[in-house]
Amino acid sequence: MAHSLRAADEVEPDLLSRLRQRGWRLSSQRRVIAEVLVGEHVHLSAEEVHARAGQHLPELSRATVYNTLNELVAMGEVIEVSVTNGAKRYDPNAHRIHHHVVCRNCQAIRDVEPPPTTVLPPPEAVAGYAVTETEVIYRGLCPDCATDRPEGSVPGS
Ligand SMILES: [Zn+2]
Ligand SMILES: [Zn+2]
Repeated sequence: MAHSLRAADEVEPDLLSRLRQRGWRLSSQRRVIAEVLVGEHVHLSAEEVHARAGQHLPELSRATVYNTLNELVAMGEVIEVSVTNGAKRYDPNAHRIHHHVVCRNCQAIRDVEPPPTTVLPPPEAVAGYAVTETEVIYRGLCPDCATDRPEGSVPGS
């Protein structure tokens, strides 16, 4: 089934509502995993999902977390984000075109909603390809990390 991408100003049902609409069997384990994924600008690694979901369901195994995340990705309801050197992150905003801004220091990832006019058309170099998405990654220091640094210092120096 193809999912149409929504414009940012349309109301996007959250992950749990979408899973219910699809008739996905929401066992308590699956529900807790889906719940911890949802939140503003949350892009958790599988380990973080396991740690947070485990606070609600201590018996939740890592294997269940990994299997469930893989299933959600295969369903197209969660996207894998690999914009840091660390572990893959899982993003519940799978139906909304958005970019990411990544902090070089703490690796925090936030969503960036691009005005549609700023999405670059594919250059001539990819003529002949059926380009289906354009991804923009902004990198820098998040406000917390930027204020931690003395004036003029360069990250990593
Ligand atoms: Zn930061
Ligand atoms: Zn995102």
